[in-house]
Amino acid sequence: MPRELAPAELAEATRHHLVYSIGKTPDAAKLSDWRLALSRAIRDRIVDPWVATTRHVYAHDLKRVYYLSMEFLIGRLIEDAVNNLGLEPAAREALASLGVDFDAAMLDEPDAALGNGGLGRLAACFLDSMSTLGIAAHGYGIRYDHGLFRQSFRDGWQIEDAEDWLAQSHPWEFERTEAVWPIGFGGEVTTRDGRPRWEPAETVLAAAYDTPIPGWQGRWVNTLRLWSAKPTKIFDLEPFNRGDYMAAAAPAVLAQTISRVLYPDDTTPQGKELRLKQEYFFTAASLRDLMRRFFSDHDDAGLLPSRVAIQLNDTHPAIAGPELVRILMDERGLGFDEAFAIARGTLHYTNHTLMPEALEKWPAELMARVLPRHMQIIERMDAAHAAEMRAAGRPRPDSVGCIRDGEVRMGDLSFIAARRVNGVSALHTDLMRRTVFRDLHALHPDRIVNQTNGVTPRRWLRSCNPKLSAVITEAAGEGWEADLDRLAALGPLAGDAAFRERVMAAKQANKRHLADWIGATCGLTVDPGAMFDVQIKRIHEYKRQLMNVLELAALWNEMRRDPGAPVPPRVRIFGGKAAPGYAMAKAIIKLINDIGRTINADPAMKGRLAVVYPPNYNVTMAERLIPAADLSEQISTAGMEASGTGNMKLAMNGALTIGTMDGANVEIHEAVGADNIFIFGLDAEDVSRLRAEGYDPGAHVARSGRLSEVVAQIRAGVFSDGDGERHRAVADNLTGHDWFMVAADFDTYWDAQRRVDAAWADPNGWARKAVLNIAPMGRFSSDRTIRGYARDVWQVTPQF
Ligand SMILES: *Cc1c(COP(=O)(O)O)cnc(C)c1O
Repeated sequence: MPRELAPAELAEATRHHLVYSIGKTPDAAKLSDWRLALSRAIRDRIVDPWVATTRHVYAHDLKRVYYLSMEFLIGRLIEDAVNNLGLEPAAREALASLGVDFDAAMLDEPDAALGNGGLGRLAACFLDSMSTLGIAAHGYGIRYDHGLFRQSFRDGWQIEDAEDWLAQSHPWEFERTEAVWPIGFGGEVTTRDGRPRWEPAETVLAAAYDTPIPGWQGRWVNTLRLWSAKPTKIFDLEPFNRGDYMAAAAPAVLAQTISRVLYPDDTTPQGKELRLKQEYFFTAASLRDLMRRFFSDHDDAGLLPSRVAIQLNDTHPAIAGPELVRILMDERGLGFDEAFAIARGTLHYTNHTLMPEALEKWPAELMARVLPRHMQIIERMDAAHAAEMRAAGRPRPDSVGCIRDGEVRMGDLSFIAARRVNGVSALHTDLMRRTVFRDLHALHPDRIVNQTNGVTPRRWLRSCNPKLSAVITEAAGEGWEADLDRLAALGPLAGDAAFRERVMAAKQANKRHLADWIGATCGLTVDPGAMFDVQIKRIHEYKRQLMNVLELAALWNEMRRDPGAPVPPRVRIFGGKAAPGYAMAKAIIKLINDIGRTINADPAMKGRLAVVYPPNYNVTMAERLIPAADLSEQISTAGMEASGTGNMKLAMNGALTIGTMDGANVEIHEAVGADNIFIFGLDAEDVSRLRAEGYDPGAHVARSGRLSEVVAQIRAGVFSDGDGERHRAVADNLTGHDWFMVAADFDTYWDAQRRVDAAWADPNGWARKAVLNIAPMGRFSSDRTIRGYARDVWQVTPQF
C-alpha cells in the first residue's frame, strides 16, 4: 500500500502539476485543467508500486497472463485510481482547498468507451481483479482514436456521432516509443534457405501506450498495453515535392485507419477486410511483444506453456494460434509439430455466444489475400488436428473443420488451438457442450470448462454506491471490497428492521439523486418514491426491450381502463445503444420513445407511470442508474444471453430481478432463492422445443388479449400521431416471425410484473428481499471469476 497521503501534500502536488505539467496558473485554470493536474498527482503515486510489481515479476519469474481483447470498456480511470488507492477523502479535501469541486472534477474525465458492451466491460473488470489478486498480467488491446459512438435522439430516432475521448490529453497513459512493432499484410510467401518466408506487401507500425492498472489498495499494478497504428513513414516526399499533398499523405491515412474506430457491432462480422486487419494488427503486436519478453530471459521455446498463459476474449484474437505457430516456425526454426504443441499449451479461448451467426467467419479468399502465410498454417493446423483425431480412433465428422464452405471458421480454429475453452455461465457452458461445440466437445471432452462471469465490486458497489457501501461496512466490517463473500454477514440482518431501514435509506437517497439528474437532463419530473424499473444494456432483439415496452403499453391501457386500480407508481427506465446498421434495433428504440412520449403526455399518468430513456448509455451512466434501481429487467430469450453482467451489478446494489432462466440469471436465482427473484417464461429447452415444433407467433398474439390490443394500437398509429406505417416492420415481425419469442413469453411476463407490484406493496418484504439479494453476491465478484481462471485455466497462483 502506498504511503498515506495528506490532503495538503496532494493539494501541493496538484498545484505543482497544474503549473509544470499542464502549464496553467490557478487563476486561469479550468475544471479540466485541475482534473488533469490531480490525475498527474495521483499517477505519480502509482508509478512506484508499478515499477515494484514489474521487478517482483521478473525477480521471481512469475508465470504471466496475457489477456487479449478487442475491447476494454474501462470508463473513467480517475475513479479506479482514487478509489483503489483510498484517496477519496484526501483528494476531496485537497481540491476543496484549491477551490475546486471534487465530484465535478471526477465526472469531467471522458468515459473511455473502447468497447461495445458486456464483453468489453468484462475485460475491464478482469483487469481490476487481476491487479487486486496480484496476478502478473497484461491486458492487450487497441487504442482506438474513437470509441463507441455517442448516441442522441432526434424525434426519438437514434443519431450517432463520433466519440472523441482523446480530444483532451489522456493523463494516465505512457507512450512507449521503444515498443514499436512492424505488422505486415498481404504480399506472398516465398522460400529462403528451405524455410517459408512471408513478404508482406504493406506494413504498418504498432505503437504501444501503457496504462497502469492499480488493484485494491495499490498493492499490485499491472499494465494495459493498447496499440495504435502508425505509418512506417510519415509521408511520401516525392508526391509532396510534386505538390500532390493528398497522395503524399495517403499512406499515413491508410495506416492510421486501422486503429481509427471501434466497430460498433458486437454480433455480426462486418467491415470485413478492415476488421480482419484490426484483429491481426493487435494480436500480432501483442504476441511479438510478449515473445520478446519471454525470450529476454528464456532460451527454450518449449518452456512457453509453463511461463505464459494467453487468454483470447472471444474469437477476435483467434489469429493468435497461427501467428504463434508462424513465429515459432519461421522466426525460431521449430518444426510444425513442436510449434503447434507449444501453441496448444499456451492459448485459451473464452466463448461468448451460442449464436452460430455471431461466431466469426472469414472468406478463405480474404484470409489468403491479407494473411497468406497464416492461411497456409491454418490449413496445416486443421489437417494436423484431423490426422490426430483419426489416429486416436475418433475421426472428425464433417461438421468440424477450420475451413468449410470457402470460409475460415474462427470458432473451430480457436477451439483446436486452445488448451482450455470456457463458457461464461453454467447454463451457457452446458449449452456450448451440447450445441455450437457439440462435436468438438465429443472429441475433447476435458477441454471445455465453465467460468461464470463476475463484476468488480470496487467500481460496481464501493465507488458507484458510497451510501450502501457505508451501510455494508457497518455490518460486514472493513475490507469487504476485496473479499466480497463477507457480504454474507448481511443475510441474518434481513430480519432486522433497523438494518433494512438503513439499506433502504441509502437506496432512497440514490433515487433522489437520480431523479434530480433525470429532471436536469431529460426535463422530466419523476417521483423518487416510485419503483425505479430499469433495463440498461445494448439494444438487441434477443434482450427483448420490445417485450418490455409492449408490457408497458399494456399496463398503460389497464391503468386508463381502471383509474382506481392499486397499481404502484413506476418509473420505467431504458438505456442502451443500437448498432448503427441494425435496423430492427433502431426501430425498437423509436417505438420505446414513441410509447414513452405518449404515456408521459397523458395527464392521468402523472405520478403513476413515467418512461425515461436518457441517451448515450455508457459506464458512467450505468454507475448512476444502478445504485438507484429497484427492479432489474433481465428478460432475454432463454438460451441467448451467455451470462450477462448487468444482472450482477444490479443485484449487488439491492435491485430485485425480473428475468428468464437465462445466462447467469440461473445462478442468481440459485444464490438469492426463489422467493427473492421474479422468474418467468420459457426456459432454454422450451425455446428449442417450441422452435422445433414450429412456432406460430400470430397464434400467441391472438390468444393474448392484452398483447393483441397493443399490437392493434401500434398498427393504428396510437403512439405515432396516427401514422400506422411507422412501426409496421416491428409489428409484422412480431406477429409473423418473432424469432425471439416475445409473443410466447408476453403473458407470463405480464403476470410476473403483477407479482412485482404485489411485492412492492409490502415495503418491509421488499426491503428484506433487497438485503437477501445483496448478501449472496460474493459469488458474482470478478475476483471469484479470476481465481477460477487462475486455478482451472492459467495455472497461476495469485499473490493475495
Ligand atoms: C455491464 C455493462 C454492460 C453489460 O450489460 P448486460 O446487461 O450484461 O448486457 C453493457 N454496457 C455497460 C456500459 C455496462 O456497464
